[in-house]
Amino acid sequence: ETSSAPRVRFAPSPTGYLHVGGARTALFNWLFARHTGGTLILRIEDTDFERSSEEMVGGILDGMTWLGLDWDEGPFYQSKRLDLYKAAAERLIASGSAYPCFCTKEELEQRRAEAAAAGRPPMYDRRCRRLTAEEVAAKRASGGLAAIRFAVPEGGSTSFDDAVFGRIEFANSEIEDFVLLRSDGIPTYHLSVVADDMEMRLTHIIRGADHISNTPKQVLQYLALGAELPVFAHVPLILGPDKTRLSKRHGATSVLSYKEMGIVPEAFRNFLALLGWSPQAASKDREIFASEELIQLFSLEGISKSNAVFDNDKLAWFNTEY
Ligand code: GLU
Repeated sequence: ETSSAPRVRFAPSPTGYLHVGGARTALFNWLFARHTGGTLILRIEDTDFERSSEEMVGGILDGMTWLGLDWDEGPFYQSKRLDLYKAAAERLIASGSAYPCFCTKEELEQRRAEAAAAGRPPMYDRRCRRLTAEEVAAKRASGGLAAIRFAVPEGGSTSFDDAVFGRIEFANSEIEDFVLLRSDGIPTYHLSVVADDMEMRLTHIIRGADHISNTPKQVLQYLALGAELPVFAHVPLILGPDKTRLSKRHGATSVLSYKEMGIVPEAFRNFLALLGWSPQAASKDREIFASEELIQLFSLEGISKSNAVFDNDKLAWFNTEY
């Protein structure tokens, strides 16, 4: 590995089984890493202690193994890295981009309701952002527990160049001063994902398009720390044949159910690869590819902006043809 080789990650939350969309994200990261001679990191995002389980982690690893997707570093568990996230929050406070918030859940709910009733957006009103250092010290001295919030710039916009969707811009006025660290010391997704992506020196973030709306909150943290942005590549959603978001109504969505049905893993991998990606030029109209060919042909440029359709008849065709 040279210093310029890409570093990517697959970062599932073990709150459910490995579903088709997650497997496709894992596959694209794997193909990109193998094509470029880069490194694939497996990171288990298990900070939602109530909903995460060891059993789900086991299922995710089994699904990846069945599909032949090996990783180079990890699995790393976010639940074992809480100190890193606290330090990351402290760094953002020190850079002047984050602040303690002492508002209680009840106070927040009441003011949100008032804002909504007055026709204002129900966003955090930034009350604690205006506290002086003395007021903060006094609140802490009297035992006040604080969450840490990011101080979103008041004007302007936050943008990034997505490798698939092009330039994406969000008005800062529409981004709430989001919570980074809860008062019980548990990080939110927004903090842990960036702290890890930075610490693991990731160069490309390849993940589902459902994360586009989270990205400005992540970009803001990089900017606040003067860190270089990774390349973001959001992959299109997977729909059922009726063009609604893929769900159990369309059939099995768990990867391991396809294993149980006797689908050939290479056929499933080939089928998944073509959900939202197609090879350029000469191989454009082909559909059956050996794994080595997929690795050789894979590029971010081949990822489509349009949603992909998961069709069980098509999968059955791959399974007989492969
Ligand atoms: N853990 C997140 C999920 O399962 C993914 C986070 C990310 O890719 O940034 O959706």
